Amino acid sequence: MSLSHGRDLFMTPGPSIIPDRVLNAMHRAAPNIYEGDLIETTDGILDNLRKVARTDGDPTIYISNGHGVWEAALHNVLQAGDKVLCLVTGTFGNGWADVATKMGIEVELIDFGTSSCFDVAKVAEVLRADTGEIKAVLATHTDTSSSVSNDIAALRKAIDETRHHALLMVDCIASLGCEPFEMDAWGVDVMVAACQKGLMVPPGVAFTFHNAKAAAVSENTPKSSPYWDWIPRTNPARFYMRFSGTPPTHHLFGLNEALTMLVDEEGIENVWARHAKQAQAVWAAVDAWAEAGAIRGNVSNIADRSIAVTTVVSDTVNLTPLHQWCQDTAGLVLGVGIGFGGYEPHQIFRIGHMGHMNPVMLLGALSTIEAGLSALQIPHGEGAIAAAGHVLSN
Ligand SMILES: *Cc1c(COP(=O)(O)O)cnc(C)c1O
Repeated sequence: MSLSHGRDLFMTPGPSIIPDRVLNAMHRAAPNIYEGDLIETTDGILDNLRKVARTDGDPTIYISNGHGVWEAALHNVLQAGDKVLCLVTGTFGNGWADVATKMGIEVELIDFGTSSCFDVAKVAEVLRADTGEIKAVLATHTDTSSSVSNDIAALRKAIDETRHHALLMVDCIASLGCEPFEMDAWGVDVMVAACQKGLMVPPGVAFTFHNAKAAAVSENTPKSSPYWDWIPRTNPARFYMRFSGTPPTHHLFGLNEALTMLVDEEGIENVWARHAKQAQAVWAAVDAWAEAGAIRGNVSNIADRSIAVTTVVSDTVNLTPLHQWCQDTAGLVLGVGIGFGGYEPHQIFRIGHMGHMNPVMLLGALSTIEAGLSALQIPHGEGAIAAAGHVLSN
């Protein structure tokens, strides 16, 4: 018997839960795309995007998903034959490297494994040995497959110490609007993000952000794609040039509402603090379950853990029945396992704790997982839910 007759809960690390306010903001008649409200709304969105990313640089909005802006970012500052250094701590790091390779960019890849942050000393060593070939360093802030979060400020510092000129390009698709990120203070030259994770909007628009250094490189980079070129979009002579055509009208209304909630009402630092608290509650539960040895959080060092998503792995148990039990019996959809570092999808589940979420949802999800573990006789330590509740109430 399935007891699942309410609204299903999606604890997936993107697309994330869409607030009703965002949905309602999108529920309106088609606007004028040549003048009026939409143009002012877009200016407000660009200002708030800068505030979320903590930059005075230029955001560009594309009708795209994350894969698209991976390509957009590379296209604007690199050309075929250029070389980049890719730092990999999970599947998404490899994904960006693949896109670069397919664009004819030469990729030197350093694989740091999938359970801890990259080693910046190793990066510095490679840059010191480089004779000016490497044009950019590509890094993932949070790799959503492994749930490793990387220290971007430390990476910048290490690059600066080598006096290497490479651009620093960072994938914040999973982390923007969840985890502390300081584009300007950390010296990030190019950043990419998308709307369907921390920004709580249905998939469909994605972003590049670039600073003056990247803008200068871009001016001297020949472009083969007029669509991805960010120059006409950055200072458009006409509004439609900002989007290289028809704007994503209703996504803009939804995004405007989401940014109002995050920036104008809650404040981005409070958003980060809320995500940190939620993550600590999840870790308390996962670490308690791990006591019995069957499942454990993939990242043991707390400083290397993402506060937007937690990947749980098992060396011994098939977790596919747990996914099924949670979904079919209880109405809880967990994040699927994206295979990484020797783990197959059936050895993994992921808890997305990003975006629009409260303790009811979080504790409901954790309790449901625990009920599933019990029902399927998967060994797990005691006290997980109490531990999570303790974190949330302190
Ligand atoms: C989700 C994600 C992507 C891919 O985004 P899509 O919108 O699915 O193309 C890339 N990088 C990271 C870190 C992600 O979390």
